Amino acid sequence: MSLDIQKIRGLFPVLHQEVHGKPLIYFDNAATTQKPQSVLDALTKYYEHDNSNIHRGAHALADRATRYYEDTREAVREFIKARESAEIIFTKGTTESINLVAQSFGRKFIGKDDEIIISTMEHHSNIVPWQMLCEEKGAVLKIIPINEAGEILFEEFEKLLSKKTKLVSIVHASNALGTINPVKKIIDAAHAVGAKVLLDGAQSTSHLEIDVQALDCDFLAFSAHKLYGPTGLGVLYGKRELLEAMPPFLGGGEMIKEVTFEKTTYNDIPFKFEAGTPNIADVIAFKASLDFFKSIGKPAMKAHEDSLLAYANEQLKDIKGFIPVGTASDKVSVLSFNINGMHPFDVGQMLDAKGIAVRTGHHCTQPLMKRFGIEGTVRASFGVYNTKSEIDKLTEGVAQLARLKN
Ligand code: PLP
Repeated sequence: MSLDIQKIRGLFPVLHQEVHGKPLIYFDNAATTQKPQSVLDALTKYYEHDNSNIHRGAHALADRATRYYEDTREAVREFIKARESAEIIFTKGTTESINLVAQSFGRKFIGKDDEIIISTMEHHSNIVPWQMLCEEKGAVLKIIPINEAGEILFEEFEKLLSKKTKLVSIVHASNALGTINPVKKIIDAAHAVGAKVLLDGAQSTSHLEIDVQALDCDFLAFSAHKLYGPTGLGVLYGKRELLEAMPPFLGGGEMIKEVTFEKTTYNDIPFKFEAGTPNIADVIAFKASLDFFKSIGKPAMKAHEDSLLAYANEQLKDIKGFIPVGTASDKVSVLSFNINGMHPFDVGQMLDAKGIAVRTGHHCTQPLMKRFGIEGTVRASFGVYNTKSEIDKLTEGVAQLARLKN
């Protein structure tokens, strides 16, 4: 069943504006998605009616805010099909979620000469925390190579696995290329040598149905702002037994059961990992984003996004000087490319002059760019509110620019 995209567009106030005198075409969804009115309303409603600190108040507003906050936790549980809501921890974003695992799980369970495996296509936030940990612990970081299409070489991954492997931390869908990694196969192979697996779901959660129990991943990290939700909010899913075995990440209020100067006992999960006053308003508003997904259905959203990607590939492929980067067979709706003879940033600026918002540069994946021998790419990433006529405008713009140099 095809979606009523005009109706969906009507839910997003930001889309209805002109940029440089041209209607805005927003193709920067992999960086952050726009927010529907329901999310904006939920934020305002919280501050206008319910603003209170949570989990400790004796009054009606505190009760209400706590209930709404915990309702979102349950909605997130349902969204990724976790066993229980205690396995859902709110963080600042994917970056903080990964750092939490590195600092807590990593510091406790990863030691000298142990190995952590990541891939060539990781975002810096799934590289640097592991480098920091390896430096501290004397552990070793191993990298899965990729092919020219931007797909991991599974046999090479298998060769890297050994009893020394303690963790495999891998991006589910690449932000720079769109590649969807075969994570179920990766998880099963990692588990066979006793390693745990963290999935960076920053890009995958907005496009793919996620079932953490079926995948059997140990951790999943993602950000609300890439899910049509508010900024400054992320999620870490972890299996109960792991979260319980891990020490706290931050110390402070909320994460304790009892504090004395001699000894502090920590709270149960998830609160053990949510020290201090959390991002209450954004957590509450995030429920509206998850309701947005429910109201449309992820499979229908993905079908639309896939059709946009296929259409864009078809329209752009014959333009002289158009160079796609990342041509994996299984992709989310991310189109990375260069124009022969032009710097990606210049392409981005010229498209911006036509009202078309794309991302340019290394996309926080410098080692990946190095693998392809390029400085960066132009990235158009499609969301549920994008249309084929917007892609026609992109094609027109790219063709015009390519003609300048080719
Ligand atoms: N991982 C991937 C694949 C991403 O695309 C991003 C953001 O672009 C991140 C991690 C970091 O997310 P955040 O900046 O929301 O913490």
